[in-house]
Amino acid sequence: MLTIRSFIDAVMNILYPGYCPVCACRIMTSQALCPDCWKKLEFIYYEELGLPVVNANKIDENPGGAGCAFPVHSVVLFNDISRAMVHSMKYEDDMQVMVVIAKLMVMMVKFIDIKADIVVPVPMHPKKLRKRKYNQAALLAKIIAGKMGANYLANGLLKVRDTQSQTSLPYLERLKNNDRAFALNRSKLQLMQNKRIMLVDDVITTGATVYECASVLQTGINKPVKVACFARNI
Ligand SMILES: [Zn+2]
Repeated sequence: MLTIRSFIDAVMNILYPGYCPVCACRIMTSQALCPDCWKKLEFIYYEELGLPVVNANKIDENPGGAGCAFPVHSVVLFNDISRAMVHSMKYEDDMQVMVVIAKLMVMMVKFIDIKADIVVPVPMHPKKLRKRKYNQAALLAKIIAGKMGANYLANGLLKVRDTQSQTSLPYLERLKNNDRAFALNRSKLQLMQNKRIMLVDDVITTGATVYECASVLQTGINKPVKVACFARNI
């Protein structure tokens, strides 16, 4: 029997079929944020698109310091909203929020006109992958590659050493922790040689992981790589 409650739910489902992945309020479309959460994202790019820019000077800053010879591009600063988005994507299997994050990264890539032939994700160690079921950086890289018309290469880089969690480690400790943790996949070297490569990760906290990954890639293919991520903490 149709109760008033189920009738209201049915109407709401038609009017507001989606949920905001951050605050779970109803929204008019799926794979988007509600206006309140959207407003709280702190965009680094997009001034010309009419979106708020918190710190344009952060563009092209190298989190790896002076010795880090590759530009790192991020969409937003790491704040409560971007943290909640990344958390949902990483730990709650929220594919809706992953699509939102990928869309924003594609906007950035197109806006700053990054050209890439191959998109490679920051890899996850197989042991961790078994536990987590998926590598969120790999899923993002795959979506982004598709939208850029580039090739997605899941295993251009390999995580060969299972490192301890980096959450509480400062930058130098993270560098040590990542030392020789990543390796170029020699069997894919031919595919990557002389190609423009973009490395993808979801979050840059100190930059130690992308620094290590980009360095390994660059040394292997002898060509600069670009780095794109969603949120940065620095
Ligand atoms: Zn919201």
